[in-house]
Amino acid sequence: MRDVRRANRASLLTDLFHGGRQSRQQLGDTTDLSQASVSNLLAEMIDEGLVEEAGLVGSDGGRPRALLRVAPGYGYVAGADVGDTRVLVELYDLAMSRLAVAQYPLGDDGPDPELTAAKLLEGLEAVVAEAGIERFEVLGFGVGVPGVVDQSGAAPVVHSQTTGWDAVPLGEMLRAGTDVPVFVENGAKTVGQAEMWFGAGRGARHAVIVMIGTGVGAAVVMDGRSYRGAFSNAGEWGHTTLVYDGDLCRCGARGCLEAYIGSATVIARLAAATGQAAEPKLLTRMLAADGVLEGEVAEIIAQTIGYLGAGIAGLVNLFSPERIVLGGPAGLALGERFLPDIRAAAARNALRQPYSRTRIDICQLGPDVVAMGAATLPIARLLADGGLPATAGSPPPRAARGRLKSRGRN
Ligand SMILES: [Zn+2]
Repeated sequence: MRDVRRANRASLLTDLFHGGRQSRQQLGDTTDLSQASVSNLLAEMIDEGLVEEAGLVGSDGGRPRALLRVAPGYGYVAGADVGDTRVLVELYDLAMSRLAVAQYPLGDDGPDPELTAAKLLEGLEAVVAEAGIERFEVLGFGVGVPGVVDQSGAAPVVHSQTTGWDAVPLGEMLRAGTDVPVFVENGAKTVGQAEMWFGAGRGARHAVIVMIGTGVGAAVVMDGRSYRGAFSNAGEWGHTTLVYDGDLCRCGARGCLEAYIGSATVIARLAAATGQAAEPKLLTRMLAADGVLEGEVAEIIAQTIGYLGAGIAGLVNLFSPERIVLGGPAGLALGERFLPDIRAAAARNALRQPYSRTRIDICQLGPDVVAMGAATLPIARLLADGGLPATAGSPPPRAARGRLKSRGRN
C-alpha cells in the first residue's frame, strides 16, 4: 500500500511541478487516478506544506476553482558547477528562483579535489547564509562535475581523465562535511536535465543534449529518462572516434570528436591562422562579430561545422531522437550563427529516415546552467519519492523539519 501511495503522490507531484498551476480537476484528468484519490492525496500534501493553493480559475457557470502548485518555499535546493578554474554554488527555491550565488577560483592547474570539496562546502554555507534560510531547509545539494560519475557504490565517485581526477570519492568527501543530502552528476547531464525540464527539450521523450566547450559530451534522454549505461559512463560522445588514428585527444586516444570540435582545438587553429592569442573567448568572439568570415577563419569554421554535423549524424543514427539540442559555449555560438549549416551537415551524414524525424535546436537556457541543472537533482528525488522520506517508518520530511524549525525559533 505504501508503495502505491508513494507512486501516486509522485505522479501527482511530478505533473504539478512540470505542468505549472492546475486545478484539482485538471490534475484528475491528466493522471490515471480517481478524482477522489487526487483530492485526498492533494489534501495530504497541502497539509504537509508541499503543495499550496495559488489563485483561482473560473469554471463554466460554477464556482471558481482553486489552482494548486508545488509550494516554492517548502524547501530549497543548492546546485554547483565545478569548472576547470572555478566553483560556482547557487541556491534556488522550488519555483527555481535563484536566491543566492557564491563563486570561488580554483587556480590555473585544474581543479584539485581537496580544494574543490572545501570550496563546495564553503559555498553551500555561504548561499544558505545569504538567502537567510536554515541549513535543514535545504533538501539537497547537487554538484555538476567534468567527467564520469560512478553512482554504483554507496557514494558517487568521479573519474575525469581530462582534469586528472582518478576515482575521486567526491560524494564521500562532501558528506563528511555536511548533513545536507549530496548528489553528484556529470555537468553535461545536469545541463541536459535543465534543458529537458525548462528549456529546448520540454515536451520531448527522446532527446540528446550535446555540450560543446573545452570538453564535448552528450546527455541522452530515452523515454523521458537519462540514459546512463551500466556504470554511468554513457554519453561520452566527445570521445567517440571521428577520424581513425587522427589527432591526439586530451583523453590520450587519437581521432576523438573532441579533438576536432572541442573549443580548445578550434581556438588553437583560429589563433594560428590569425596570429591572435589563443584565449578562451576567441571562438565565441569571432562568431559573435557581425562581419563575414573570410579566408582561413571561414575554412576552419566550415570544417568544424562539418565535423559537428558528422558527430550529430552518429547520434541521429544511434538513438533516433525527436530532438538534438546544441549547448555549451561553443555549441551555442556555432548554433546561433550557423544552425542551418549544422543541420545540412548532419543531414549529409545521417540516414534519411531517422534524420527526417529529428529536429536540431539550440539550448534556450544559456551557457551557464550546470549549477541550475545540478539543483534539479534533489528536486528529481523529491518528485520521484512523492515528497515522502526514502526510508520506511520515518516521518515526512516537512514534519521533521517543522519540529526543528519551531525548536530553533522558540
Ligand atoms: Zn578523447
